[in-house]
Amino acid sequence: MVLECLDTGMFNSNCYILGNNGEGVIIDSGVEPDEIISVLDKNKLIVKFILLTHGHIDHICFVDKLRDKTGAKVLIHENDSKKLIDSVSNGSIFFGLNSSFEKADGFLKDGDEIEVGGIKLEIIHTPGHSSGSICIKVGDKIFTGDTLFKMGRGRTDLSDGNEMEIFASIKNKLLVLEDKTLVFPGHGDETTIGAERVFY
Ligand SMILES: [Zn+2]
Ligand SMILES: [Zn+2]
Repeated sequence: MVLECLDTGMFNSNCYILGNNGEGVIIDSGVEPDEIISVLDKNKLIVKFILLTHGHIDHICFVDKLRDKTGAKVLIHENDSKKLIDSVSNGSIFFGLNSSFEKADGFLKDGDEIEVGGIKLEIIHTPGHSSGSICIKVGDKIFTGDTLFKMGRGRTDLSDGNEMEIFASIKNKLLVLEDKTLVFPGHGDETTIGAERVFY
């Protein structure tokens, strides 16, 4: 399985590229599409989906360009779908960008399973950082967006963030996973569920 992380975008968010058997999936879109496409070309991957862990600008800023260049379908949780078209709730207005994007091609919900090149991706709804935040479990790995970081978690003071919800999401949806589960966050270095468990 191909797994690459790019973090060279203007907001230093992590963009993950997963692939297998010639098919690929991109998690978040905060990196220049040309850089993503060179990884896809190198690994001979056709992208089926762009999965957005949530709708904040640092994770969606290149989503339209990336969809145009790859033809992939953009999927997000319905609770964060409005952020694509609203520069206030996606936070871009606070960076003086006033960015809005095309609507998503479809919605993700808790328990959904997506298959790409034989890789199974399980969607886990983890509200708190935003109400439509999701994590994506792939075997013994989990992509946590801005819900769980190495030695931290996402802020909850943005539009629809909720402190109680993020604690509940982490405790009930993430810390129930095995200690050895590898965590790939939306910012910063990877960690494990076992290493983060000590903080809760
Ligand atoms: Zn965020
Ligand atoms: Zn972020």
